[in-house]
Amino acid sequence: MKQSAMKAKAATSSTKTSTTSKASRSHTYVYNFGRQTDGNASMRELLGGKGANLAEMAAIGLPVPPGFTISTEVCTYFYAHDRSYPRALAGDVKTAIGLVEAQMKKTFGGKDNPLLVSVRSGARDSMPGMMDTILNLGLNDVTVEGLANISGNPRFAWDCYRRFIQMYGDVVMGVQAADEESHDPFHELLDALKKSLGKAQDSDLNAADLQALVAQYKELIRKRTGKAFPQDVYEQLWGAIGAVFGSWKNERAILYRQQYGIPAEWGTAVNVQAMVFGNAGDDSATGVAFTRDPANGEKSFYGEYLVNAQGEDVVAGVRTPKPIAAMEKELPESFAALEKVRTKLEKHFKDMQDFEFTIEKGRLFMLQTRNGKRTGLAAIRIAVEMVKEKLMDQRTALLKIPAESVDSLLVPIFDTKSQKEAQMIGKGLPAGPGAATGRIAFTAAAAEIESRKGNKVVLCRTETSPDDLKGMLYSQGILTTRGGVSSHAALVARQLGKVCVCGAGEVTINYEKRTLSAGGVVLQEGDYISINGTTGAIYKGLIESADSEVKRVLEGSMKPEKSYTYELFQTVMEWSDKYRRLRIRTNADTPAMAETAVAYGAEGIGLCRTEHMFFEGDRIDYMRQMILAVDQVQRQEALKKLLPFQRKDFVGLFKAMAGRPVTIRLLDPPLHEFLPQDDAVRRQLADKLGLPLEFVIERIKALHEENPMLGCRGCRLGILYPEITEMQVRAVFEAAAAVMTAKNPVPVNPEIMIPLVGFKQELADQLAIVHRVAKEVMAKNSIEIDYIVGTMVEVPRAAITAEEIAVQAQFFSFGTNDLTQTTLGLSRDDMGLFYDEYQRKEIYNKNPFASLDQTGVGKLMQFAVENGRKSRPDLKLGICGEHAGDPDSIEFCHRLGLHYVSCSPPRVPIARLAAAQAALREKK
Ligand code: ADP
Ligand code: MG
Ligand code: MG
Repeated sequence: MKQSAMKAKAATSSTKTSTTSKASRSHTYVYNFGRQTDGNASMRELLGGKGANLAEMAAIGLPVPPGFTISTEVCTYFYAHDRSYPRALAGDVKTAIGLVEAQMKKTFGGKDNPLLVSVRSGARDSMPGMMDTILNLGLNDVTVEGLANISGNPRFAWDCYRRFIQMYGDVVMGVQAADEESHDPFHELLDALKKSLGKAQDSDLNAADLQALVAQYKELIRKRTGKAFPQDVYEQLWGAIGAVFGSWKNERAILYRQQYGIPAEWGTAVNVQAMVFGNAGDDSATGVAFTRDPANGEKSFYGEYLVNAQGEDVVAGVRTPKPIAAMEKELPESFAALEKVRTKLEKHFKDMQDFEFTIEKGRLFMLQTRNGKRTGLAAIRIAVEMVKEKLMDQRTALLKIPAESVDSLLVPIFDTKSQKEAQMIGKGLPAGPGAATGRIAFTAAAAEIESRKGNKVVLCRTETSPDDLKGMLYSQGILTTRGGVSSHAALVARQLGKVCVCGAGEVTINYEKRTLSAGGVVLQEGDYISINGTTGAIYKGLIESADSEVKRVLEGSMKPEKSYTYELFQTVMEWSDKYRRLRIRTNADTPAMAETAVAYGAEGIGLCRTEHMFFEGDRIDYMRQMILAVDQVQRQEALKKLLPFQRKDFVGLFKAMAGRPVTIRLLDPPLHEFLPQDDAVRRQLADKLGLPLEFVIERIKALHEENPMLGCRGCRLGILYPEITEMQVRAVFEAAAAVMTAKNPVPVNPEIMIPLVGFKQELADQLAIVHRVAKEVMAKNSIEIDYIVGTMVEVPRAAITAEEIAVQAQFFSFGTNDLTQTTLGLSRDDMGLFYDEYQRKEIYNKNPFASLDQTGVGKLMQFAVENGRKSRPDLKLGICGEHAGDPDSIEFCHRLGLHYVSCSPPRVPIARLAAAQAALREKK
């Protein structure tokens, strides 16, 4: 909204100004900063982040070299008018230069005391290093002499001049390395000169040497471009302004914008600023610093600087900068001034700042400031501590923490000492945070075997597929050599809360030889490997890992007052709970999962997948017997054996949840998922069940489906085999009765959920069974059990007929995994072939299975919510798809007015924060 309004304004105002005379013009393209300051921090759309904050710093009295910002409107105009400028701009720039001249008491192009300027890019969001900056502009053959005289330092003047020609030649005149293999031509000349003079360092060159170099540089430009290096300072200035606007559309910048979702329409501003000189001697310096440690959030001064240097030297890495702390000794007065600025910046901007400064002959100048980028841990620590320091309130602090960063407090970590000693053999993409150590397994089966032996496993594959799911469950971590952060491996790892490093291209896995090679090391299956999913690093051998402190406190193995990390976690969670409206539930199938989730703050179970209960031990055999049964009698016999297992599971869940709501979904997946595909296992099964092998094979064949995702699953199973529904429901209510009437009774709150409903008749069919069995069990135990029955909304027809369905459904739970699959007509497991291309072409902004497709699937949800409430105003509404753990999707659910989101246990804390943020943003 804001954006398009801005654009419209820019368009109208630019046509207006280009046709009116300057005198009658109320609009301006140029905003001064310095003695007169026109802008402020809130104007980043117009002035870019750098320009807006330069103005703000100037306005609050920080020492900013004077200058002016040419607004982003001019950038818009520039691209809309064949790279030309509004007519009034030239005059405005001249006036603004006049202001700077007056303040600096120097003249632009003046031969006695010349004013030099920098010309700097600056977009609304910082795009570090993506666009161009030119320093020392205003030097020519005449002014260089003036600078030499007035500074009494000819070497410095000639060094500035040669730097300027080098930058200008590169950025404005396009004199660059011919290709990736060749060197920068200016550097080549510089190196050749040093070699011929037998001088090792740039700093060994004297004024005469640099003067000779300037001549060579100018000659190079003439040869390469056929043009002379411009001597007119205004020609220089306009060349630089054009180059900076032009750099908005350079390849690097475009790529960066795509990566970070910055719209091309925003444009960049151009900042022209009086130069100050960090290269004016040993009492001069340049540097960058953070007001707090951006890695761990500690309130300590963090940064680096270089004495006698200009901005680009720090970045170029020619000389190694010193840590900021060293400045206290080397330049004590400047350090004291810098400390004052540090405090003032935080007080004023109310956030951790990342700033650039220069010291010219002992005088400190501020060149840039912005909110600093930080790790998840730092984000949390800084937010909490800034509230304590009264720099911000709780609401502001909560909004400053990216919800995902809570994860960094929960994941297991490597023991710091062991990690330092370990040998790193490669790096991939950090896809599932945390640390994992284990024996290498190359297949899901190997992972299972190794894990059953009681060993820790890292599943290493070129890439993973749904077949590997079981193996992933058995593994501590997953390493893949192909695929990005939204590959199958990464997605599932996040869902399961597993450590994952993916797309490690330098690692080679040879399945035949059962080896993994990287960094000159060859590892065999069964050897130890360690992966750090927070950094992407891969290590040879075993590294001790430790549970996060938060986890240890929640499990009771660490005292809360011993852990600062826990204090941070707890604080953020308490604040979140105060502001959120959404309830947070979890998807859990076992008492252990449920307990973890409750410790993390889950207020109920939103999805218990009963089928997961059928995989363990003997159960799978009875399950198979049930599936293979040819008639109802055989099936009931098998179900009778399954009943006690299910009942026991529910007893455990009800106890763990202690009266919180527990949503139990009836059997959902296609039956063949339970059947063995492997011949040997089929034979074993036949033996065990006392059935002929041919019969088993035949039955499995008969159950085969072309497209099981759209086949006999969900409520279709219960309709086809009502005895399955009956057994499951009986198990639920008998468990409830048992828990309620136990010696230490526990309240229960079951919610029965029918999957994959699309027709109200399907729901009616299953409801009849649920209510009948409930009545039977309650009568038999002479108790009342409070329960409700509802449906999953996971096919479009359910959403479309929500009004009909809600007549009988007491709740809707949006199963957005299937709802996305069925709405997009796309199987999640089969999007690998085209996914990357879709993302590159920006057809999908985000993976629709990771973040809710709000305009498509979201519309269906909205329709279902509105229409469901028509027939049942108190319809309970929740979401249990994977999206329920994604902050953007959570915000959407909040706006839809759902009552709860239900995510995997490790994501519960993230969801608590995201829900609070959704509520706070709504109020804004
Ligand atoms: P980026 O956005 O890539 O950081 P900047 O426009 O901030 O580019 O410029 C990079 C560096 O150039 C600054 O950090 C600073 O050291 C130097 N610089 C820019 N303008 C000036 C100036 N007016 N005086 C001295 N140094 C400057
Ligand atoms: Mg900068
Ligand atoms: Mg489903």
